[in-house]
Amino acid sequence: MVQNLRIPGPTPCPPEVLAAMGRQMINHRGGEFAEIIKDVTAKMKQVFQTKNDLMLLTGSGTAGLEAAVVNMLSPGDTVLGVAIGVFGERFAKIAQTFGATVIPLNFQHGKAADPALIKKALDENPQIKAVLVTHNETSTGVTNDLAIISKVVKSAGKLLLVDCISSLGSVNVPVDEWGIDVAISGSQKGWMVPPGMAMVAVSEAGWQAYAQAKMPRFYWDLAKAKAGLEKGQTPWTPNVSVVFAFQVALDMMLKEGIDTIFARHQRIGRFTREGIKALGLTLLADEKHASNTVTSVVADRGLDAKKLNKIMKDEFNIVLAGGQGPLEGKIFRVGHLGMVNEKDIQVVFDALKVALPKAGFVG
Ligand SMILES: *Cc1c(COP(=O)(O)O)cnc(C)c1O
Repeated sequence: MVQNLRIPGPTPCPPEVLAAMGRQMINHRGGEFAEIIKDVTAKMKQVFQTKNDLMLLTGSGTAGLEAAVVNMLSPGDTVLGVAIGVFGERFAKIAQTFGATVIPLNFQHGKAADPALIKKALDENPQIKAVLVTHNETSTGVTNDLAIISKVVKSAGKLLLVDCISSLGSVNVPVDEWGIDVAISGSQKGWMVPPGMAMVAVSEAGWQAYAQAKMPRFYWDLAKAKAGLEKGQTPWTPNVSVVFAFQVALDMMLKEGIDTIFARHQRIGRFTREGIKALGLTLLADEKHASNTVTSVVADRGLDAKKLNKIMKDEFNIVLAGGQGPLEGKIFRVGHLGMVNEKDIQVVFDALKVALPKAGFVG
């Protein structure tokens, strides 16, 4: 029986998308593939709301984060690493690994980044070249106020590199309007496509930074990806099956309409939070900034989160996510991005009603 997979990626895929994955291979240097990659890229730009160059890289979302770092920066550059959870920390760690000097700006898990403190850090450290920030922090279920953060970063004239892996395609991310210099997403999140590709959109200012950037790069060299795309190719053999999947999924997304998709995620995010609270549970995220793609729930009042997830899986065939890093065992998470409707979440509530007392919850 198919699981009700309620983790924040990989997410369930529509049968049409899975069928496309089963297509026979084609020549990735041939005309048919060129048509497909151009079509996929053009449609994806509509969802990114961008006219910038957009490249598909064969790798997971983290590949896109690494590509952003090594293509924009040089060893010794100072960057502001804004982190509200493990993915923000990962982005900063990648920059540090390749020789950047990272000024960390960490916020309590469950809270959003404070734009005023970002501004303060930029004022106090004029040597900062770029700001690394997560739009939607999947580990805590918090969405940063990127509209305001982008104003702060852009008015300071800094590069803005944003991990939009679990927000793009599900919630509104107007990449050009917000001046995002590198916007990154991943196929297995809100896109209803299996894992295997990262998507990276680069602004004009981003390409100017690229021309100066000296970090070592080969496989993730974005200029090679851009030059390849002009011929309808990728520099290295791409994940052809995922490109087929995108072709089908993007048509489905554009048919639904991006505004309708964003409204659906907003509605289901609220539906999830209200249902969780009605069960007597506590949300981890500050509700003003709660994510509409993933909800994190505190394991309090006797609740054993690991036991709960096991019961949900074994007895109800529902797969929830646990906590990551310092939140391991302290929370559980419900993913609601991509192919999701109220019914998928209602069955989670129905199961939780039975499973929670069995997992020690005395709400
Ligand atoms: C999933 C996710 C990542 C990591 O992506 P991988 O595909 O596992 O490499 C990074 N950042 C955020 C916000 C994510 O949700």
